[in-house]
Amino acid sequence: MNIEARLRVLKERISAACEKVKRDPNEIAIVAVTKTIPAQLIEEAYALGLRLFGENRVQEAREKIPQLAHLQGARWHLVGHLQTNKVKYAVKLFSMIQSADSVRLLEEINKRARNKMPVLIEVNTSAEPQKHGIHPVHVSRLLEKALSLEKIEVMGFMTVGPYPVDEKRSRKAFALLREIKEKAEKEFERTFSVLSMGMTEDFEYAIWEGSTMLRIGRGIFGERKQA
Ligand SMILES: *Cc1c(COP(=O)(O)O)cnc(C)c1O
Repeated sequence: MNIEARLRVLKERISAACEKVKRDPNEIAIVAVTKTIPAQLIEEAYALGLRLFGENRVQEAREKIPQLAHLQGARWHLVGHLQTNKVKYAVKLFSMIQSADSVRLLEEINKRARNKMPVLIEVNTSAEPQKHGIHPVHVSRLLEKALSLEKIEVMGFMTVGPYPVDEKRSRKAFALLREIKEKAEKEFERTFSVLSMGMTEDFEYAIWEGSTMLRIGRGIFGERKQA
């Protein structure tokens, strides 16, 4: 299968998942996750209409994004863990940082950003100890801090679903992120529009639980050579 065929299958699966819960597929953004994927294939995905791209490592993004500067209207999201010492590059390369999960990181982004930086708060919704993301009980405190920082614009929340994928566990994690968003909206009396959840193997569950942004790598580009 090539990118065009995979994208067609992906969109059919998104439509079917939306149909099941009576949602509109147009309210669900697709971030094409391009880690390990060469620039030429990203150009192909762009030609097929994709405009949102996600990288998980700053170093790789620093090499790749400048090569793709000619793709008008393409926007890049950081979806992987961000180290404080890489923030100075990240704020220049990305239009959104999806992996904000500590006060220290938010403060550094606030210090380094020229303009307002859109961020998502990454939450560890599956209690897997090796995972990044803030623990659900600490979200409110982190959010309070984030909302006090001038250059930080909190757009919503992100989570990586449990692995291996399992319907019950996956849906529970995604439902938890939705509940965290709803609770935060009440507490801070504002809306957070983005729920970034769902990858190639679990995005249907994420759609059923309210995802507004899918992060899809293999479902667009095929299996990666190296993870
Ligand atoms: C790699 C990655 C994805 C995409 O994973 P696929 O299984 O290839 O769809 C999504 N989110 C993050 C944070 C990733 O690192």
